[in-house]
Amino acid sequence: MKHIDTARFCKEGAILSGSFTPADLPRLAGEVLPATSFSVAWRAHGGAPNFLDLTLQSSVQMKCQRCLGAMEEPIDVSYRFQFVADEATAQAQDEESDDVDSLVHARQFDLQELIEDEMLMALPFVSLHETCPNAGAIAFLPAADKPNPFEVLKNLKSMA
Ligand SMILES: [Zn+2]
Repeated sequence: MKHIDTARFCKEGAILSGSFTPADLPRLAGEVLPATSFSVAWRAHGGAPNFLDLTLQSSVQMKCQRCLGAMEEPIDVSYRFQFVADEATAQAQDEESDDVDSLVHARQFDLQELIEDEMLMALPFVSLHETCPNAGAIAFLPAADKPNPFEVLKNLKSMA
């Protein structure tokens, strides 16, 4: 567990960093290819007034949805959050601005949970090799996954 006093953390411009393993982040471990390991390097930097910058770097094994083989998914993301007094303020702020996510100040804020949440958000919705190493498996794919560009053009013309 990594807990921070958010008001102090921001005011002092504190920096915390570390790395988490699958044992630390069981929800993330459940989303990646089973029985594979990963390490999430994280860095949290507080800033006045009430900002938190979070950087996450990792590389996880996902299952390619085309060939079902393993694929490496590098993750390198950074986020800025702003702490506010309460949930109502956080909601109002989030409706106003897309750039910065609002979080509620806490004496015992669970940084580990936030890191796991953001890692889950950073995972690709669908993992696909650019070129599947095992090309034989592709034969099972339906051919018409993508619309034929000429078909699309024809439809556009007929609409005009
Ligand atoms: Zn693949």
